[in-house]
Amino acid sequence: MVEYNGIMTYCEITEGKLPSISREVLGCGRRLADDLGQELYTVLIGSDVGSLAQEASALGPDKVYVVDDQLLKEYQTDSYVAVMEKVVRQVMPLILILGQTSLGRDLAPMLAFRLDTTATLDCVGLAIDPETKLLLRTKPVYGGNAQATFTCDSYPQIATVRDKAMSPQEPNASKQGEVITIGAGLDPSAIRTRLLKRVQENAGGVRLEDASIIISGGRGIGSAEGFHQLQELAAMLKAAVGASRPACDNRWLAPNRQVGITGKIVNPDLYIAIALSGSIQHLSGCAQSKSIIAINKDPEAPIFNYADFGVVGDWKKVLPAFRDKLKELLPE
Ligand SMILES: Cc1cc2nc3c(=O)[nH]c(=O)nc-3n(C[C@H](O)[C@H](O)[C@H](O)COP(=O)(O)OP(=O)(O)OC[C@H]3O[C@@H](n4cnc5c(N)ncnc54)[C@H](O)[C@@H]3O)c2cc1C
Repeated sequence: MVEYNGIMTYCEITEGKLPSISREVLGCGRRLADDLGQELYTVLIGSDVGSLAQEASALGPDKVYVVDDQLLKEYQTDSYVAVMEKVVRQVMPLILILGQTSLGRDLAPMLAFRLDTTATLDCVGLAIDPETKLLLRTKPVYGGNAQATFTCDSYPQIATVRDKAMSPQEPNASKQGEVITIGAGLDPSAIRTRLLKRVQENAGGVRLEDASIIISGGRGIGSAEGFHQLQELAAMLKAAVGASRPACDNRWLAPNRQVGITGKIVNPDLYIAIALSGSIQHLSGCAQSKSIIAINKDPEAPIFNYADFGVVGDWKKVLPAFRDKLKELLPE
């Protein structure tokens, strides 16, 4: 019978660095490994990733598996799935955790299919069932209106975790995990896609994913000029500007600023929702915010059911008053 051991995390690399999601996944992995009394492993895949392996090894794993190959310079589904399958078959971990990023969303289900197991995407909570020792995978369902917890007894148990849902692992230079190199063994002709060009998205201010404060506007803002007022306020608060789908569809703001089930999922400390009604599809993207402030002229707007603080009024009057008060309160 095959024996599965240890908790494995996938350590993502973005622009030559370890992004916060890699530390969050490692933080979650450490907690699960301690709960199960198992070792923690992480996998680093790329080209010239030697120095990152040292950085990753200070983030708490007992072992760092490194696959370093020129063919792995850029993420390609074919090459990365093949390499991950090889690593997982060699190590046979009980659990594999990845970030809910564009890479994780692509890699996890493909890998689960190849390994004849299941993957649960977009988890906001992972824990160990004290009785069965299976991975409890909690994720939002019904457009974010409820949470469900899933288990599956096929191995490895694969899950992706949502950005900012887990506490990041702090580095500890005195604790270095063992670095183990695994050959990629790739056949270049089996990689069916090629990266021709990389186009940098113009973030236009603070990125939604990184912001601790987000100011979002809806259809009631009425125009691109209206959004300039939101941007002015955002600059004062070092905040990012988001929008509902109608506002993006009207091109008042770029499509990459849409929050919601078909846009971005965000969880800032503060979400200020201005002149948006609070549809289920929008709330699916922002309901995890720590605090929500709503400004809406309709006292019956659904957003008030979710807001911690609400102002009933015309945003064109409320916003300038809010901005003036902030100017008074904020240091120069
Ligand atoms: C499959 C699917 C996916 C979707 N995905 C998304 C998604 O990812 N994100 C998303 O946002 N939507 C999404 N939608 C659309 C969603 O259903 C709603 O239609 C949308 O969120 C409504 O946007 P809104 O709140 O800006 O507009 P509305 O619902 O029209 O609300 C406008 C609000 O502005 C208020 N208002 C108007 N004027 C003022 C004023 N002067 N001062 C103050 N308040 C004012 C009104 O009282 C009203 O509450 C999706 C829909 C479908 C079917």
